[in-house]
Amino acid sequence: RWSAITERHRETADVVVPDRTSLYIDGAFTNADDGGTFRTTDPTTNYELASVARGRNADVNRAVDAAWSAFEREWSGFTAGDRQRILIDIADTIDAHTEELAQLETLDNGKPITESRVDVRSAAEQFRYFAGIVCEDSGKTMTDESRYGQVITEPYGVVGQIIPWNFPLMMASWKLAPALAAGNCSVLKPAEQTPLSALRLAELIDDIVPDGVVNVVTGYGEEAGEPLTRHPDVRKVAFTGSTAVGKRVMKNAAENITDITLELGGKSPIVVYPDVGVSKAIQLVTAAIFYNTGECCEAGSRLFIHEDCADEVLAGLVEAVDGMKIGDPLREETDLGPKVSTEQVDRTLEYIDAAREAGGQFLTGGDRPDDTILSEGCYVEPTLIEGLDHDHSAVQEEIFGPVLEVFRWSDYDAMIEVANDVDYGLAGGVITDDITQANRTARDIEAGYIWINNYHDLPPGLPFGGYKQSGIGRELSTDTLDHYQQTKTINMSLE
Ligand code: NAD
Repeated sequence: RWSAITERHRETADVVVPDRTSLYIDGAFTNADDGGTFRTTDPTTNYELASVARGRNADVNRAVDAAWSAFEREWSGFTAGDRQRILIDIADTIDAHTEELAQLETLDNGKPITESRVDVRSAAEQFRYFAGIVCEDSGKTMTDESRYGQVITEPYGVVGQIIPWNFPLMMASWKLAPALAAGNCSVLKPAEQTPLSALRLAELIDDIVPDGVVNVVTGYGEEAGEPLTRHPDVRKVAFTGSTAVGKRVMKNAAENITDITLELGGKSPIVVYPDVGVSKAIQLVTAAIFYNTGECCEAGSRLFIHEDCADEVLAGLVEAVDGMKIGDPLREETDLGPKVSTEQVDRTLEYIDAAREAGGQFLTGGDRPDDTILSEGCYVEPTLIEGLDHDHSAVQEEIFGPVLEVFRWSDYDAMIEVANDVDYGLAGGVITDDITQANRTARDIEAGYIWINNYHDLPPGLPFGGYKQSGIGRELSTDTLDHYQQTKTINMSLE
């Protein structure tokens, strides 16, 4: 079976790994200035997928210059209607390449193919959504006896955008769509673990977008990301990634008072009431934590389950988790793929070991799968842990893997106090059919996005972003367009 997986990945890789794995600057694929490269691997097999250009300071400078030239040469002259047509063309192109992009994403990231298809749809949806609102984006006026005031918005010009590896194409689209809609040119830095889908997107839209409007600089965070955050000609930095790196981005951006938005980590609570059917609770909790192998910023990673239904729901959860199909993410039936890299496996296992040392009870999981085939890839068992103190590092910190910590509750106020006792505030979930309880809990959880009886559903139009150390700013909404524009007031005397 192992050789079957390997062969299949290699075969598919031959088909979909793009030829173009160099930087995309000014509408051309180009090597890094110093000729450097790095490897991106398939986490299912740990085989190399491609050698990719390793961008650094000089390449970032080239890309920023190209973006400004494109802005000044033509992009700033495009009307909202022109940009709308381009965004729609990009969406159509993504849709037309769904299967190819989904396979590429699964190869590079390891996520199940069924989930990669959802990501590709969401990517196209972003461009359609911002195409839809861009022409509505008009200014305001104010007048009185002595003056006539106009408030208009203008793009920043050139923005730097840095994205993580967990939803590579989706994150690229969440960034590029609003930036282009608002009239900016972009320099995008994909994560070093998963650069391929952004490069393929660049290739696909090459004929649609004028040269230099979208630039992709692949490379490592400190080498390619950091120069983008410190560049004096980058007028806005949009960053999605960990809170630790977000803090550094914020400090670097402060050097030039560069505007920023930050979409950072989470440790989201999911609260289950006893009135709800057991099977519904199991299905929602399983999806909340194990979707995308737990590599979701919004993952429901701390379960607060009411004492009255805890035994029954936990027994069902263990059964559901033990029935999950772990394996080759290119197979339609796979529920859980590998993590993105061996580093991420080690990180998850460190938290698991610390939880074990602290006396956590493992309801299921807690290791790499006991399977010689899977142990060659970056797999970790789906894991449920009960009995940890809430101040334990595995509870307070983002594990970013298929690990759920379980807490029982009966006193509402005490449960809410604990649920809010983390530095993060990205999201939360409430599972109950009682609308009063549902709304009260949604109000009481300190987070930017609360799901009631669903999870992970993120349609454009409903703003997404974090409280506390989960970030600054909102994506997926008209707020996002505002984040990519600056406000100019023109005040004219009528006297
Ligand atoms: P990360 O912070 O390690 O890296 C994110 C990106 O930043 C990568 O492209 C990386 O190369 C770059 N980077 C690293 N160091 C940098 C530096 N010094 N300067 C500039 N750029 C630098 O995060 P990750 O491990 O790739 O992604 C996982 C994290 O992303 C999790 O914390 C997750 O919660 C978060 N995330 C948040 C959202 C959201 O919308 N809030 C969405 C997806 C992921």
